[in-house]
Amino acid sequence: MISFYPGPSRIHDEIPEYVMDAAREGILSANHRSEAFVQLSRKTIGLLHQKLKVPKGYTIFFTSSATECWEIIAQSVTKGKSYHLYNGAFGQKWFDYTQRLRPAEAIPFDLEDVLDPSTLSNVDDDDLICITQNETSNGTQVSNAVVRKMRKHFPDTLIAVDATSSMGGIRLEITAADIWFASVQKCFGLPAGLGLLICSPRAIAKANDIGEKAHYNSLTFMIEMMNKWQTSFTPNVMAIYLLMRVLEDSDHIDKVHRKVSVRYELWLRFLAKRKAIRHLVDKNSVRSFTVLPITATPEVIQQIKTAAVKKGLLLGEGYGNWKSKTFRIANFPALKKKEIKKLMKFLEKY
Ligand SMILES: *Cc1c(COP(=O)(O)O)cnc(C)c1O
Repeated sequence: MISFYPGPSRIHDEIPEYVMDAAREGILSANHRSEAFVQLSRKTIGLLHQKLKVPKGYTIFFTSSATECWEIIAQSVTKGKSYHLYNGAFGQKWFDYTQRLRPAEAIPFDLEDVLDPSTLSNVDDDDLICITQNETSNGTQVSNAVVRKMRKHFPDTLIAVDATSSMGGIRLEITAADIWFASVQKCFGLPAGLGLLICSPRAIAKANDIGEKAHYNSLTFMIEMMNKWQTSFTPNVMAIYLLMRVLEDSDHIDKVHRKVSVRYELWLRFLAKRKAIRHLVDKNSVRSFTVLPITATPEVIQQIKTAAVKKGLLLGEGYGNWKSKTFRIANFPALKKKEIKKLMKFLEKY
């Protein structure tokens, strides 16, 4: 079965081999305070900086998931209120989690809308602006240019960005925001169970200023531990090892970005020629590069899903409001050209 699910998604072919290597190298029982772990952690973080173009001054942390990052951000870096701009299920979920912990305000926008910083007023320096860069549920994205615009509009307010289904697949302008996070089961092509949190010097300073220490994953503890390349809990050492191996093999993000965007264009051209199916989003500038939402009548959707499974093709289910009218196709780097061709051939008659 070829998985086009936008997470958990198709893993790199080499993963089973790397797991065997991890066992042989004693990684699977490595102590997380050992020198071996410190070396592994340091190397992996170095590779993330290098391959994803994460500026030197930004600190990278290991977490267990993107969901955990939502919670860390709410508890440890938000002094005032948190403003959530979203147009889909993941952005809303982030808001829902946050408001249980802290004062938060939802600012939803429409599927076809380009996020506009001027819709936000009364934002204070102590507040936090939360953006879902790639909305996995409906295949829309907030471009680097818009994140930059937000930064310009609010130069003194921390900006946090959920890039769970785009980091590792497209070029993100890390300097345009203070906090970025993702988990590895989407664009990184790895099994689930590891999250990444990236913080600017300002975000670190804010966390230290707030000094929140009530949780095992309070950012203040994580900062202390990461100064020694360690974590505040026993991390998923195998996943970190797999990430290191995959990053060693990976191209620089500029090259990966080109590959992903060429394939994205190919999909757009393909979809434009179809009769029964089309891209859910009309406006080009808000379409995600990494998740393609396809819409049709519920009958056609059902027919395609059933037939796809028989061909060994796993499509992503529609999400939330769009459940019966859409399916989703991942455009993640681990997918092979011939697999995409196979899916296109299958969809050709619709
Ligand atoms: C998948 C996803 C999450 C949740 O990731 P977990 O690793 O399951 O916590 C959060 N945000 C977005 C945009 C996602 O696509």
